[in-house]
Amino acid sequence: MSFESLGLRAELLRAVTEKGYTTPTPIQTQAIPPVLEGRDLMGGAQTGTGKTAGFTLPLLQRLMESTKTEQGRRPIRALVLTPTRELAAQVEESVVTYGKYLPLRSTVIFGGVKINPQIARLRSGIDILVATPGRLLDHVGQRTVDLSKVEILVLDEADRMLDMGFIRDIRKVLALLPKQKQTLFFSATFSDEIKRLANELLNAPALIEVARHNTAAESVRQVVHPVDNKRKRELLSFLIGSNNWKQVLVFNRTKHGSNRLAEQLNTDGITAAAIHGNKSQGARTKALADFKSGKVRVLVATDIAARGLDIDQLPHVVNFELPNVAEDYVHRIGRTGRAGNAGEAMSLVCVDELKLLKDIERLLKREIPKVVFDDFKPDPSIKAEPINMGRGGKNQGGGRNQGSGRNAGGNRAANDNNRGYTAANKRPGGHGHSRRSAG
Ligand code: AMP
Repeated sequence: MSFESLGLRAELLRAVTEKGYTTPTPIQTQAIPPVLEGRDLMGGAQTGTGKTAGFTLPLLQRLMESTKTEQGRRPIRALVLTPTRELAAQVEESVVTYGKYLPLRSTVIFGGVKINPQIARLRSGIDILVATPGRLLDHVGQRTVDLSKVEILVLDEADRMLDMGFIRDIRKVLALLPKQKQTLFFSATFSDEIKRLANELLNAPALIEVARHNTAAESVRQVVHPVDNKRKRELLSFLIGSNNWKQVLVFNRTKHGSNRLAEQLNTDGITAAAIHGNKSQGARTKALADFKSGKVRVLVATDIAARGLDIDQLPHVVNFELPNVAEDYVHRIGRTGRAGNAGEAMSLVCVDELKLLKDIERLLKREIPKVVFDDFKPDPSIKAEPINMGRGGKNQGGGRNQGSGRNAGGNRAANDNNRGYTAANKRPGGHGHSRRSAG
């Protein structure tokens, strides 16, 4: 199968060739023809599958086919909604890359940066708008964006948008779009709520799916290293140092924990940066750029911040802490082994997290191999302590209830915003477990 045989026009083929792609990925092979035909699409796919090109290439071609020659203001004809700023930026980058030989204009809008330059860009006439829902609604409120001429709507990572509590914002945006349009809907997972939303939005969609739902990419080698909580940082430094890893993405549950860990790694002589929602957009962009360029070896991220990060051929992902929600594990390890490259995902698991590990293995329908390092054998006398999921005691039950997508998602967002909860349990430095040593 080649890009030519998918029916893409010469300008797109040229851009794809320049990007170095020779063969379409499975999702591209499946998605491009129906989208070119104008059909709605329901895509089950995670990042790393090539889904961005899967929708961007045919979207660009559709817009070229419907280009109107009439004079006057160019209306926004394609809208792509994404959950995070990083994903929005990356999608727009893809639009620019693949559309470089086409006379179409795009821009990206998200929060955390000044609104005025965005307004100026929007005024200059934009064909393709990539946006996060919140900032898009700010523009709607200020009447600096007109969505009444949208022909194609893409909801990227719809599950994550709902997890992050964007459903109301999404509905508000949907109400502003023309009824008659082509909708492309992507989600890695399919909760009842996602199915409901898809049913409302899609009209006889082409259904495509790559990699079974909730199944970790086959190309990722997974391993669990059991270790005491207070020795995790030491083990991480050991793994990075002894293997001489150059580029490692490390997941932490909280912003505070991410900052601390990055600081400690720097103290250990391992260059590290943290990326999370409390950082300014500039700081996040810089951390990601430094990581991509190899200036920092370790990027420590929370789940929400890491969502959608596109880092080519990321070889190592480490779960410094397991996620509260099993499905996040699948998203996390989806950062490695991208587009067919083999990757490695390691999880440092302490006794507190064995229940989370069980939930993950249940979701994966298999056990993850365990490897204990002699120097880091867990102390069997340490008893599991509950993982504090947030401030409210009520949340705790919800967060552990892996079956409930909505509750779990609510908690996840809460955790990412909750600086406080880290201190008690999650400090790798050991303060959090002083009670243990005593007992
Ligand atoms: P995505 O799932 O869209 O985030 O894409 C994952 C990664 O695969 C990105 O780094 C893309 O640049 C890359 N990619 C997308 N399509 C192809 C292709 N046909 N061949 C090789 N790499 C690709």
